Amino acid sequence: MAVVDKNETAMLAVFGNPVEHSLSPIIHQHFAHQEGRKLSYEKILVAKSFESSALEFFSAGGLGCNITVPCKLDAYAFVSELTDRAQIAHAVNTIKLKYADDGTGFYVGDNTDGEGLFSDLVRLDCPLDGARILILGAGGATRGIVPTLLTKAKLKSLTIANRTVSKAQDILTTTTDFYRKKNISLDLHELKACSYEDLATAGGAFDVILNATSLSLNHELPAITDEVYSGARFVYDLFYTQDGSTVFTQKAKALGVAASYDGLGMLVGQAALSYKMWFGFTPDIAKTLEHMRSVLKQRAAAK
Ligand code: NDP
Repeated sequence: MAVVDKNETAMLAVFGNPVEHSLSPIIHQHFAHQEGRKLSYEKILVAKSFESSALEFFSAGGLGCNITVPCKLDAYAFVSELTDRAQIAHAVNTIKLKYADDGTGFYVGDNTDGEGLFSDLVRLDCPLDGARILILGAGGATRGIVPTLLTKAKLKSLTIANRTVSKAQDILTTTTDFYRKKNISLDLHELKACSYEDLATAGGAFDVILNATSLSLNHELPAITDEVYSGARFVYDLFYTQDGSTVFTQKAKALGVAASYDGLGMLVGQAALSYKMWFGFTPDIAKTLEHMRSVLKQRAAAK
């Protein structure tokens, strides 16, 4: 049986390649400290196959795991059951080993990125009600966050701009098809996929802008004009840094968008949902976020 007793050490891990940089062990140990639970949480480098690494981990007593780049698709294929949001996202970032009544073990896969982002936007008082939202980028993160934004936020419109427009269009098509099949209506005026060039004429047409490209990692900006930032009341970069400012949030601030934030709160938020899936305990995200900011600052100072 999976360990649920707080005094027995629960075995968790994060799988990825690379994985050395992952903050997940520190975040989850902080949650476990809040709950008063004993935890081992290791980083597992997937050199060959995710499936064989995962099977080895679970047969050694693993209770659950997180999955990071590039293994989220392999994790999707590995599990026996998927939550709706993992199914739409086509990616799994959390697995829990569960047991059927006859004692057979099975793996449930979830994707907590969207809810993690949403909880952070709420925490930061993002003006989502009736918002015209622009997402820059259409990679794995966007796939995870679009379903949550479409179902939980009362948006006026959602636009995804990407270098490869077909990827943005595919996210919108698969997501809306999924809800149509489930007879869930999306109360939204406009859904659009476009290129960065198409935004040139859009001016200040967006209230909220999310940067879900991987450009900030290299201190690069999406190829959008200053006018696109100009109407925004809230800007968020999914990328995170030790002091909460990225090249993208700096640009937005310089153009007058005071409410500009990085994605550390999303990282802690999505981890909190994984923790809740494993143990049923809801961690205090604000406390762990404060702790993580100081961990990142210490790391930066030690360099
Ligand atoms: P992917 O690699 O799946 O997607 C990368 C995206 O960036 C694509 O849209 C890609 O465009 C775009 N891109 C990359 N290079 C360029 C370029 N030179 N010019 C224009 N566009 C470019 O990454 P993820 O979706 O997994 O991650 C995106 C970001 O979100 C990262 O910064 C990541 O750190 C962050 N993230 C944060 C999380 C959090 O909890 N805070 C969770 C998950 C991700 P194209 O499709 O055309 O290639």
